[in-house]
Amino acid sequence: MAWRSHGRTNDELVDNLYRNEIITEHRVARAMKSVDRANYVAMKEPSIDPYQDSPQPIGYGATISAPHMHAHCLQELSRWFVPGAKVLDVGSGTGYLTALFAEMVTPDGVVVGVDHVDELVRASRENFHRGAFESRRFPANLSAHKLLAAGEVILATADGRNGWPGRAPYDAIHVGAASPSIPEALIEQLAPGGRLIIPVGREHEGQTLKAVDKGAFAFTLVPDGNVYEKTLMGVLYVPLCDKAHQLRRS
Ligand code: SAH
Repeated sequence: MAWRSHGRTNDELVDNLYRNEIITEHRVARAMKSVDRANYVAMKEPSIDPYQDSPQPIGYGATISAPHMHAHCLQELSRWFVPGAKVLDVGSGTGYLTALFAEMVTPDGVVVGVDHVDELVRASRENFHRGAFESRRFPANLSAHKLLAAGEVILATADGRNGWPGRAPYDAIHVGAASPSIPEALIEQLAPGGRLIIPVGREHEGQTLKAVDKGAFAFTLVPDGNVYEKTLMGVLYVPLCDKAHQLRRS
């Protein structure tokens, strides 16, 4: 059940998400156990409980999504998260979800996280180093530094409404902020057979999380050139907007 999955530790949080059937796949649980949420939130705000199942402020008018929302998105994209896949995370914020994506597509995958607030991107790199160094699944010699240096993870400052053409097309694109409509560039940068997850709707108004599949038979990855959209659930995200607009919110 959403909002009821908090734990005293990262493992307990993930176990409760599993018990409440938000996580149904072991590999999603495994990834979430490998990335300690505490390394991505609460670094500057010790009063924040990283294992609470709620969104939390990360500064600059933004919030990290609640763990159950991240779990839903991982579940919705897990078929596309295979070793070697290319993934784009728009609005990467703390880098937490970007790190989870990296867990699921390494070795040989590429994960690009973009955010338009440079301070958040720099902080996410620090979080990522801290987080990956302490990750239990990565072999000891596969440090975050190596992942970043090898280009398997790219954390960049950019307006995510334009995607990140440098590594397109992507097998999966996740957007962590709500857009009034689906940016054309993101659909263009989706690989045939790929899936985009994006909250759609205006700020402070009813929004819906949408899945956009390129190809009718997305589940068998047979593209037909069309784009198919489905609504997953009602949500409330911060807006995918101009940086100046976002900073006025803070
Ligand atoms: N997914 C992240 C952050 C979610 S908050 C997490 O869970 O930690 C939404 C993020 O989107 C913020 O960090 C904000 O800075 C970013 N954002 C909003 N509009 C954007 C835009 N036009 N381009 C890039 N990033 C944007």
